[in-house]
Amino acid sequence: MKSRWDDVAAQSCPSALALRAYTSRLIGSDPTLVLYGGGNTSLKVDNTLYVKGTGSNLAEVREEHFTALDLDALRTLLHDPTLPDAALMRRIDGCKREPAAPKPSIETLLHAALPYAFVEHAHADAVLAVANVANCEAACASAFGDRAPVVPYRHSGAALARACKAVFERDASARTIGLILACHGVVAFGHTARASHDHLLRLVGLAEDYLERHGAPRPVATTETAVPADPAVTAGLCAAVSAAAGFPLAMKVVTTPTTLAYAQRSDLAEISQQGPPTPQHAIYTKRVPLIDDDVAAYARRYRDYLARTLGHAADGRIDAAPRIAVSPAFGLCAFGVNDHYAAVAAEIYLHDIDIMTRASAHGTYRSAAEQHIARAELEYGGFEQRVRAGIASPPATAPY
Ligand SMILES: [Zn+2]
Repeated sequence: MKSRWDDVAAQSCPSALALRAYTSRLIGSDPTLVLYGGGNTSLKVDNTLYVKGTGSNLAEVREEHFTALDLDALRTLLHDPTLPDAALMRRIDGCKREPAAPKPSIETLLHAALPYAFVEHAHADAVLAVANVANCEAACASAFGDRAPVVPYRHSGAALARACKAVFERDASARTIGLILACHGVVAFGHTARASHDHLLRLVGLAEDYLERHGAPRPVATTETAVPADPAVTAGLCAAVSAAAGFPLAMKVVTTPTTLAYAQRSDLAEISQQGPPTPQHAIYTKRVPLIDDDVAAYARRYRDYLARTLGHAADGRIDAAPRIAVSPAFGLCAFGVNDHYAAVAAEIYLHDIDIMTRASAHGTYRSAAEQHIARAELEYGGFEQRVRAGIASPPATAPY
C-alpha cells in the first residue's frame, strides 16, 4: 500500500501532538482504511494519553480534537472487570486532564492498554476481507503470522481493551506491529509516528498479498456503465421504505456493473444477511439489506431481531426500515435522513460489497453475531434523530 507520508509536512509539525494529528488525517483521508468517523488514534507522552475525542472525523482531526487523560489512572480501570459500563465511562471521563475536553474515544482503554507511544485503529477493507471468514484464525495466521495476532470479537470499550491486552501479552513477539480485531478491524502501533503509520500500511499490504494469493484480488475499476434503473421502481421503493420508517427518507441509486453483479450473486441470500464487516457500518446501513423488495416483511424481521437482541431498549430509537436495498432491477439503493446520509450509506455499502466479495473468494464470509451488531446500532446510532431534530447537521459522525 502506497504511503502518503510527506516528510516536509511531518517536519513542519510543531509538536508530537501536531504530528499525531497529521498522521491521523493521513489515515482518515483514505476510505479503504476508515469511513465516516470510524477509527481512532492516540499518543502517549509521559503519563498522559492523548486520544481522539468522539464525534470528530479522522480525516479532519486537529490537536484540539484530542483529549488528554491520566494514563496511570486509566490503566487501573483495566484491572476491575466488575465495574459496570456506565460507571466505567464516568471513571474514564474523570481521568480527563481538562473537564471541558471532548468526550474521549470509545476505545480509550484499548489505547491505554498498549505500551507504545503511537497507536492507530482502523477498519481497513483488506484486513476485514482476510479476517471476516469462518476460518478467521487460520487465514490471519497465514496472512499476518506473529506480525499481528488475532483478538476474538469483543464489544468496543473495556471488553475489547482487556482482550487486546491479554492477546498482546500472550502472543506478541519482537516482530509484532499490530493486532487483528476479528469482525471489527485492525490496530497498529509503534514508538514513533512514522513507525506506527508504516506498520498500519504494512498490515494492509500483508492482507492484500494474502488476498492476491488466494484468488481475491482487488476488483478492477470498470468504466462500463449500466442501463439506468426504472425511476418508477426506485421511487416506489423509496415511498415504501419511508412509510416503514415513519418519516421521509432520501434515496441514492447506484446502478453499476458492480452493484448489478452483486445483486445477481447466487449466494446473495447467504452473504448479504450475515451482517456488516464492522459494527460501525450498521449505524448507516442497518445490519442487513433488503434483497427481495418486500419492505413489510423486512420490517417484521427487523423488529423481531431488535426485540430478540435488545428487548425494549430499541423502542422508539431504531426504526425497522432498511437503509440498503439490493436488486437485479437497480443494483443498489441506499436510504438516509437526507441526501448526505443516503450517499454515506451507499458509499459504505459499496465498501461492504468489496469486502464480502473478496472474503467469499477465499472463505465463508462472517460478521459479528447479531446481538453485537444490535448493541452497536443502539449505542453508536442516534444521529438520524439528531439530524431530523435539527440538532446536528452533516457531517454528524459516530461516537468513535
Ligand atoms: Zn473500530
